[in-house]
Amino acid sequence: MSKKPVFYNCSRCPAYCCSYPRIIVGEKDLARLAKHHGIAIEEARRKFTKAGHEKGERVLRHKGDEHFGTVCRFLNRKTRRCMVYKARPAVCREFPGAGRCGYYDFLSFERNAQEDPDFISTTWNS
Ligand code: SF4
Ligand code: SF4
Repeated sequence: MSKKPVFYNCSRCPAYCCSYPRIIVGEKDLARLAKHHGIAIEEARRKFTKAGHEKGERVLRHKGDEHFGTVCRFLNRKTRRCMVYKARPAVCREFPGAGRCGYYDFLSFERNAQEDPDFISTTWNS
């Protein structure tokens, strides 16, 4: 079976998606993260997550970031790569879902327009 084409390149992106405030962590995600760090699930819940807007929802904690204000606590701010890639939550594995990433389309357009292959857009209105 042939693979569907992909029109984005995460290795050329400053990880805009990791700046989303609502990165939901389910129980399976939490168990995976806890195992990855060799700690108890409750400790992982406390350390890595905080309450989301929906009742009972837990989301990944953030930390400050020079480009996007805040980003997921697991993003390496220098390399712009996930530090828990193998143990990342399901929602991170599934994103962006289709063969396109809206932010990357926008970023590519701006990089071409500005003739700057390293340009980083800190805002994007989807
Ligand atoms: S914003 Fe899009 S291109 Fe950038 S890291 Fe996320 S999925 Fe990849
Ligand atoms: S867990 Fe990794 S992929 Fe998911 S938001 Fe955080 S840094 Fe990004």
